[in-house]
Amino acid sequence: MNIHEYQAKELLKKYNVAVPQGIPALSVEEAGKAAERLGGPVWVVKAQIHAGGRGKGGGVKVVKLVADVKKEAQRMIGMRLVTHQTGPEGQKVRRLYIEQGVDIAKELYLSVLLDRATGRVTFMASTEGGMDIEEVAHKTPEKIIRVSVDPATGMQPFHARKLAFGLGLTGEAIKSAAKFMTSMYKAFTDLDASLVEINPLVLTKGNEIIALDAKMNFDDNALFRHPDVAALRDEDEEDEKERIAKDHELSYVALDGDIGCMVNGAGLAMATMDIIKLYGGRPANFLDVGGGATTERVMAAFKIILSDKNVKGVLVNIFGGIMKCDIIAEGIIAAAKEVKLSVPLVVRLEGTNVDKGKRILAGSGLPIIAADNLGDAAQKVVNATKKAQAA
Ligand code: ADP
Ligand code: MG
Repeated sequence: MNIHEYQAKELLKKYNVAVPQGIPALSVEEAGKAAERLGGPVWVVKAQIHAGGRGKGGGVKVVKLVADVKKEAQRMIGMRLVTHQTGPEGQKVRRLYIEQGVDIAKELYLSVLLDRATGRVTFMASTEGGMDIEEVAHKTPEKIIRVSVDPATGMQPFHARKLAFGLGLTGEAIKSAAKFMTSMYKAFTDLDASLVEINPLVLTKGNEIIALDAKMNFDDNALFRHPDVAALRDEDEEDEKERIAKDHELSYVALDGDIGCMVNGAGLAMATMDIIKLYGGRPANFLDVGGGATTERVMAAFKIILSDKNVKGVLVNIFGGIMKCDIIAEGIIAAAKEVKLSVPLVVRLEGTNVDKGKRILAGSGLPIIAADNLGDAAQKVVNATKKAQAA
């Protein structure tokens, strides 16, 4: 789960991570009041959406008059903010954060995340702050320092010193950074976060380290332990298809390919995506309909897949265990009829009642391409999708 910058800053502040003073606002009037309360002389008006790169898209403005805070608030509220992370359609701005302006001496980068390669909580730091860190990692990987933390010892002073030296800090700034990093690590572990990213981390003209931006992601599986964090969810920012999937207890993740996948079981779903890639295709989603799906759930899954404009072909790959193949077949037919299937559909069924399932599909009159095994199914859907694209 993602949260907004202002929410992340509120959480981090509780852990003594240094952040500027700020007040969220939902209207121009609230923005004006927030500016007066903060007192200036410099304010920053920041659009709150779950995407980075807001600055370049006109979603972060530094101003020196309360009147200008209101003017910028007026411009930002309701606008569709387009950044490199939102896609061309942008994201509608519904909330603002009015923040105190900070005297920046240097913009740095600092994040803490779970590195899956080493299985350790890892800090990443760079002197190249305020920019697109993926680009820094790609073009100049030597400019990124990594420090991983042994879970047995937790964060130690030497971890912080190594990071601070790597960031080129000296004197008092090292102390300020060490306190910042230790607090950030505690927030990360206590709150079951999967990412805390500060970009930019700023060295102020007063030689202090402070977070100018903050992004936090949380492990959904641990949210039950943090009802206060779960309450920060903003459904307006979530992918609509993922939200509908959640309502039907489907595990669905939208991806950027063109082959829609409907699979039962997370492992089989991963394998299906892999094999599509192997045969030169690109999955449009991960979708696990689960073990005990009903016709209604299969229908819901099918509709979600087909509502994705990028989907140019669909692969249904089901191993009928608890879930019987004939039930799946009926769900597919009902859904295909209701949504007027207009892309090639490849179905591979195996397991309980497989023959009955195949007979139902064959007798449906729908142009379904049957497949015998996973390799066959993947090749068929990749070929059919390519043909459909070319046509
Ligand atoms: P995004 O990453 O979405 O573009 P940031 O919060 O990183 O948004 O803001 C973009 C830039 O705006 C920062 O790199 C910084 O230069 C400037 N900025 C943001 N907040 C402040 C602030 N409180 N004081 C001064 N400058 C700021
Ligand atoms: Mg930023």
